[in-house]
Formats: sequence, C-alpha cells, structure tokens
Amino acid sequence: MKRILFNIIILSTSCTGDNNELYLSRMKMIETQIKQRGIKDQAILDAMLKINRHEFVQENFQRLAYSDRPVPIGFGQTISQPYIVAFMSEKLNVNTHHKVLEIGTGSGYQAAVLAELSEHVYTIEIISELAKRAEKVLNKNKYDNITVRIGDGYKGWPEEAPFDRIMVTAAPEKIPERLIEQLAPSGIMVIPVGETVMMQYLWSITKENDGSIKKEKIFPVRFVPMVKE
Ligand code: SAH
Repeated sequence: MKRILFNIIILSTSCTGDNNELYLSRMKMIETQIKQRGIKDQAILDAMLKINRHEFVQENFQRLAYSDRPVPIGFGQTISQPYIVAFMSEKLNVNTHHKVLEIGTGSGYQAAVLAELSEHVYTIEIISELAKRAEKVLNKNKYDNITVRIGDGYKGWPEEAPFDRIMVTAAPEKIPERLIEQLAPSGIMVIPVGETVMMQYLWSITKENDGSIKKEKIFPVRFVPMVKE
C-alpha cells in the first residue's frame, strides 16, 4: 500500500495537466503495445516512457503519437510504430559503451531511444529539412550524444567507423556492402531489406570476430524504401 501511494505521489508531482495526460498515454503504450508483445529490456521500456514521442511528429498528428501505428512526419516519410522501435532496439542489443550508426534519422525519435541506451549515436538523413527538424527537437530535449548529418546513408559514415551497432530504418533492395564494412568485429546491424514494399524482411546481421558474416531473417516488415542519391 505504501508503495502504491508512493507511486501515485511521484506521478502526480512529476506530471501536471497536459503533461500528465501524455505521460499516461505513454504508460499505456508501454503496457499494451510493448510489454504485452514480449519486450523485456528495462532500459528500452524506461527510454520509451521518458521520451516525448509527441514532440517528434507533426503538430497536426500529435494526437496519434502514442497509437499503435506509424505516423506521418512530412515529405512522405513516417515515424515507425512504437513496437517496431522497441523490437529493433532490443534486437540491436545495445550497451552504454556502444558507438551506434543510424541510417534514416526521420523524426529523430529512434535516435533518441538509441541515445538513451548507448554512448553516442551518429545518424544520417537524406532529406535536409527532416534532418534539421530532428536536430532541433533533439537539442530541445538535451541530447548531447547524437550527431545528425545530412547525406546518403549508403555511404555510411567512414570518418567515424567502425560502429558497434548499426540500425537502418529505410529499406534498401540489398544489404549495403559499405555498411557491413563499417561494422566493428562482433558488431550487429538490424536492417529491413526488400526489392518491393510488399516483400521486405527485417534482418539481423552479425560480424563475427574473425570477420565472417551471419545473417538472420526475422519477419516481414514495411518500411519506406532507402533512396539512392
Ligand atoms: N528512424 C526514423 C524513421 C525513419 S523513416 C524515426 O525514428 O522517425 C526513414 C527515413 O530514411 C526517412 O526520413 C528517409 O528520408 C530516410 N532515407 C531514405 N533513404 C535514405 C538514404 N539513402 N540515406 C539516408 N536517409 C535516407
């Protein structure tokens, strides 16, 4: 009973008014969309409870920010469904010493989740307006361990390679060779791949210590295509 009371006091003092409602929406999202589907990593659950997902979507779509679906972010792009963000983050098995590369910054939300789990996130976005908007919201939320670059993700980020982890959030037709090259030994890359939107699968790629590559096909997904410059 004491504990319940304590939680209620924390809840009511840490969130007021509108914020309280948004915090409760996030709690519900974590319970019904993330935990009930089997995500157990507490660091991921904590990160997604903390991050103001509604700030990462366009203003006219904010009421959909915590719903069980991808949401438009402009320029024909979307922020991934919360469960997919959690699932891909868990698959990536990130720790606080890791240097992470993300391809497809989009809204910046996935980068924020990865930044809560790792040492530093380098993220590349090909649409400059999205990159700038993401940078702004990430700065507002005080993320000083995320570097955003406008550029072509197919090239990776050679100056900062190798990366312990790579997450790709747009789907190329084939796994880009240069990204595999930029993966550190015992590194993991999670990436959607497919020649058409209807035939995409999520893959987990592991680079063993001897440099050999292990590929695991996970399940069908639907991401925006990774565009060529
Ligand atoms: N991770 C994002 C969602 C990504 S949507 C989030 O959390 O909001 C996919 C993004 O990949 C889009 O913003 C798209 O512009 C970007 N993209 C597509 N092709 C790309 C490429 N070749 N290089 C970098 N970014 C690319």
